[in-house]
Amino acid sequence: MMFSFVIVAGGKGSRMGGEKKQFMNLCGRELWRWSAETAAKTPGVREIVLVIPEGENLNPSWPHDIPLIITHGGSERAVSVLNGLNAASCSYVLVHDAARPFATQKLFLALMDTVTENAGAVPVLPVADALKRIDGENITCVNRDGLYITQTPQVFHRLRLIDAVRDNPLAKDEAEAWTNAGGILRKVDGERMNFKITWQEDMTTARALTEQKITRTGLGYDVHRLVPGRKLILGGVNIPSPLGLLGHSDADLLTHAIMDAVLGAAGLDDIGTIFPASDERYRGADSIELLREVMRLVEADGWTVEFVDAVVIAQVPKLNAYREAIKNNLGKFFAVNIKFKSAENLDDAGRGLSMTCHAAATLGRHGE
Ligand code: MG
Repeated sequence: MMFSFVIVAGGKGSRMGGEKKQFMNLCGRELWRWSAETAAKTPGVREIVLVIPEGENLNPSWPHDIPLIITHGGSERAVSVLNGLNAASCSYVLVHDAARPFATQKLFLALMDTVTENAGAVPVLPVADALKRIDGENITCVNRDGLYITQTPQVFHRLRLIDAVRDNPLAKDEAEAWTNAGGILRKVDGERMNFKITWQEDMTTARALTEQKITRTGLGYDVHRLVPGRKLILGGVNIPSPLGLLGHSDADLLTHAIMDAVLGAAGLDDIGTIFPASDERYRGADSIELLREVMRLVEADGWTVEFVDAVVIAQVPKLNAYREAIKNNLGKFFAVNIKFKSAENLDDAGRGLSMTCHAAATLGRHGE
């Protein structure tokens, strides 16, 4: 048996706010391409017929062995389907909706194995949710026993389907036209992943399922002198101490190291370049405000800060009592862990002359 694979992509996208979903980008491929390419690799499928909206022009690259035939639809679904069926040439036809990108080759083969000249085949799934019928204010419960939802592709003898659709132009799907015309229908198990992208939220779900996630890690380091008469601010928290950190800004070295880690993961310049000490605007700057700007910069590039870990190395003062307050303050921006280490009286930090900080940030982004 030879099969044509007809993809109906003639919709106007009225439930997508007017955007034609069949041409929307899903992980670098227009929506219609997903099922077209699955079908092109399916044994027994000899041609793909793509039905595009009236007035639309499409000249897509098509690197597959079998032909891609493009034809135009009409104002009604039945017209689009008929145009597709007439542009096809095989004895049997799978009619698929472009808005179902995740139908698998396994499903196509099961349908192709089930269809006969007299019996069409459709994928079905039992209804999982409880059902209600709503008529104005009146809500009644509907027994879902024996109720199934129908998916595509639906497969039929092509010439018989042409007659059935022509005689039943108002049918909701090809199966309804087929049974109205007296045809037999068989079922195969549908696939939950073969959901139909109808609303904007469905597209969001589809993107979450397909788009690759890139994860990157950045490293940040900072050191400041510890001197009398300066405030000690770590992670935006003011810590009572006779010694504070010396610097052009508020010298919040924890927030500085974290900003460099975040910027580093995003492949951006460091804070010394973005907020130069030579710029008077940053004298005494609140580093938490600078962090807000850093977050804006990385988020503008599509990044999400997934986790930050940092270690502050200080001999004096003891900082553990402020750990929760610092975590809570930085936790407004991202998930964060903070640790403190003494310097074992060894180097400048160990002698109480300085404080150092190391930070690592993990950022994630969806993309190619
Ligand atoms: Mg600094």
